[in-house]
Amino acid sequence: MAIIEAIDRGADHQPSYDDRTLVINRASLNILANLGILDDSLPRCPIRHIDVTRAHGFGHVRLHAAEHALDHFGAVVVARELGNRLLTCLGQTEGITEYCPERLETFHVDDDNQEVSIRLASGTQIRTWLLVAADGTGSSVRQAAGIASTLHDYRQSAMIFNVMAEPASNDTAHERFTPEGPLAFLPQPEGRYGAVWVGSTERIDKAMAWSDDELIAKLEQRAATGFRKFSRPGKRARYPLKLLRTPVPIGRRVVCIGNAANTIHPVSAQGFNLGLRDVAGLIDVLADAHDPGAPVWMARYVQARKSDQADTVRYTDTLARAFSNPSLPFRIGTGLGLAAHALLPGLRRRLVTSAMGFREPVPSLARER
Ligand SMILES: Cc1cc2nc3c(=O)[nH]c(=O)nc-3n(C[C@H](O)[C@H](O)[C@H](O)COP(=O)(O)OP(=O)(O)OC[C@H]3O[C@@H](n4cnc5c(N)ncnc54)[C@H](O)[C@@H]3O)c2cc1C
Repeated sequence: MAIIEAIDRGADHQPSYDDRTLVINRASLNILANLGILDDSLPRCPIRHIDVTRAHGFGHVRLHAAEHALDHFGAVVVARELGNRLLTCLGQTEGITEYCPERLETFHVDDDNQEVSIRLASGTQIRTWLLVAADGTGSSVRQAAGIASTLHDYRQSAMIFNVMAEPASNDTAHERFTPEGPLAFLPQPEGRYGAVWVGSTERIDKAMAWSDDELIAKLEQRAATGFRKFSRPGKRARYPLKLLRTPVPIGRRVVCIGNAANTIHPVSAQGFNLGLRDVAGLIDVLADAHDPGAPVWMARYVQARKSDQADTVRYTDTLARAFSNPSLPFRIGTGLGLAAHALLPGLRRRLVTSAMGFREPVPSLARER
C-alpha cells in the first residue's frame, strides 16, 4: 500500500493538525481503539454531558451519558495531538510506502480496467488496483475521475480558538444555537475550552480582527450558556464553510472518502467522524476482495455507506439552516424540536445514537465490543 501526501510530514507543517478541538464520537473511538491508535499517549477529555441551548427562544436539551448506561458519549482531542499519534502509528506500520511531501499529478485507468497508473509530481509512477481519494473538498482526483458532486456555499465561516471559562467542567460539551450560527464549547483539561464560533463570513472576518478584550466581551454577550467569565483567549483561525455532496462517490478504480466525498457543516461535529466511518466501511467491504477496485466491490461500498452518508449530510445541513433562520415559524419550530427532544425519551435516544455515530449499518470496527 502507498500513501501520497502533498504537505510535509509533521505537526508543524500540516494545517489539518492545528489547534482545532475535534469531537471524536463513540463509534470513532471504537475505530481508533480497534486499529491500535487510541492509547494513553493521546490526551483526551471524555464527554459525559451534552448541553444544547437556543438563544432568544425556548428549548434546552441536556443529555447525560449515565442515563443511557454509558460512561461517555465520545471524547475531545486536539487535532494536532491526534495527527502526531497517527504519524507515530504510520511510522510503526509495515507494508506502507509513504510519498511525502509529494503530489499526485495525474492518473489513468488501463483500457482493460485492470489497474490505475498514477504519476506523481516528481515523475514517480505507481500502478495499483484501487485509488482511494482522501484529498479534501477540492479533490482533484474526484474531478479528474468525472465523479459528479454538488457544492453549496453557506456564506458562513467558523472561527476557532481556545479560551478559559468559568465555572469549568471538563466533561460537558456545550452547543448554543444563535440566529448568527452555532457556538460550541468543547472541554479541554484545566478549565480550557475549544470554542467554535460560526457566523456570516463578513462577521467572522471582522471578529478575526477584534482585540482579545473585545472577543471576551462579545463572547459574554453571545454565549450565555451558564458560563460567567471568560479569559485568556488563544490564537484564532478561520475556515470558510461549504457543503459538498457526492451521492455516488466512485469512478473506475477510484473511490472518494472523507471530505473528498462529503464535506459538511461543523455543527454537531460530524465531519471527521463520517470520514472515519468511510474508512471502516471500506475495510469491511474489501476484507474479502481479491481485486479491490473491481466494479463489484465498488458497488458494494456505495451500498454499504449510502444511508449513513445521506443521513449525516441531511442532519447537519438541516441543523445549520434551521437554527440560523430568523423567521418566526422556524424559530417556533426549532424551539418545539428542542423541547420535544428534552421531553420524549424516544427522540432523546435517537439523538444520542446519532451523536455517538451509530448509524446503520455500523461498520465492524465501529461496533461496541
Ligand atoms: C471549524 C471546524 C471544526 C470541526 N470540528 C470537527 C469535530 O469536532 N469533529 C469532527 O468529526 N469533524 C470536525 N470537523 C470536520 C473535519 O475537520 C474534517 O471532516 C476533516 O478534517 C476532513 O479530513 P479529510 O482528510 O477528508 O480532508 P482534509 O483534511 O482536507 O485532507 C486532505 C489532504 O489531502 C492532501 N492532498 C490534496 N490534494 C493532494 C494531491 N494532489 N496529492 C497529494 N495530497 C493531496 C492535502 O494536503 C490534505 O492533507 C471540523 C471542521 C471545521 C472546519
